[in-house]
Amino acid sequence: MTNISKDLMAKLNDNFAILSCSIEKKLVSRYDNTVKYLYSLPDGEYLECVVMDYKYGHTICVSTQVGCKMGCAFCASGIGGFKRQLAPSEILSQIYTAQKDLGVRISRIVLMGMGEPLDNYDNVMRFLELVSDEKGLNIGMRHISLSTSGIVPRIYDLLDRKLQLTLSVSLHAPNDAIRSSIMPVNKSWGVDELLDACRVYADETSRRISFEYAMMKGVNDTPECARELSQRLKGILCHVNLIPANEVPEKGHSRSDDNSINEFKNILEKAGLAVTVRRTLGSDINASCGQLRREHIKSQA
Ligand code: SAH
Ligand code: SF4
Repeated sequence: MTNISKDLMAKLNDNFAILSCSIEKKLVSRYDNTVKYLYSLPDGEYLECVVMDYKYGHTICVSTQVGCKMGCAFCASGIGGFKRQLAPSEILSQIYTAQKDLGVRISRIVLMGMGEPLDNYDNVMRFLELVSDEKGLNIGMRHISLSTSGIVPRIYDLLDRKLQLTLSVSLHAPNDAIRSSIMPVNKSWGVDELLDACRVYADETSRRISFEYAMMKGVNDTPECARELSQRLKGILCHVNLIPANEVPEKGHSRSDDNSINEFKNILEKAGLAVTVRRTLGSDINASCGQLRREHIKSQA
């Protein structure tokens, strides 16, 4: 802009920054049009986001932190530890940058990229306000899902806001023994406390909780696990997403085979639960949580 005074320009420079993402790498899946971006940030950090082309429109999966503190045993996002929080504008910028590059309108958002959204609570809440504002991208809360590993007090805080978004909970195990062995967060808030919060959340918002369950061979995929899970989820308004786990070389777990996944699904369905086995989109482009950034950092080392 040349139509503002030098003084104002200096003031703007001193007090504000435009924290936008630049496209460092872009991968397009040969199978299903899924696009994965590796973005670089002005301070040299990297983050990733994925755009999925569904029948009902484009959905973007955004990151909320660089790295993650939660240390889940199966996830690539936390491998280099936690780097920093993302500002509301940096979460927004992932969407604007992808829309501009692809020439499409993104109509749904999932906060399921790198990072734990409820560990960056204030910035994520501000992002939600901005992205749903009619002067902004105007994406309604009903088209937004927030995924958490289970920071229970923050689930209650979220409940107080009475937002119409979908709460996804990364459960991945039916009991404390298994869950604590793969998700350290479970040592602070166990399965009972987490499911109590989910029950209250679903009752008070009348919104169905979406439980994520990554199927790992020999870890959490036995018929006993399925029966225990059915018991624990009884009476909660919910939907269970079974995800064949993505294998991450450093992490050592393997994906459950199709037979185990189907048997698991049948047991849950017989108990009256709504279950979907998630398609793995973009399987040729490492389109899951933290994998692309991990490879890029490794290749630079
Ligand atoms: N931190 C939040 C949101 C980001 S992770 C959370 O944990 O919910 C998005 C989803 O991907 C979570 O359900 C997470 O458990 C899952 N995930 C992480 N690594 C995975 C892997 N290797 N295979 C399958 N799902 C994985
Ligand atoms: Fe963090 Fe979620 Fe990955 Fe766990 S699964 S390390 S909470 S991003």
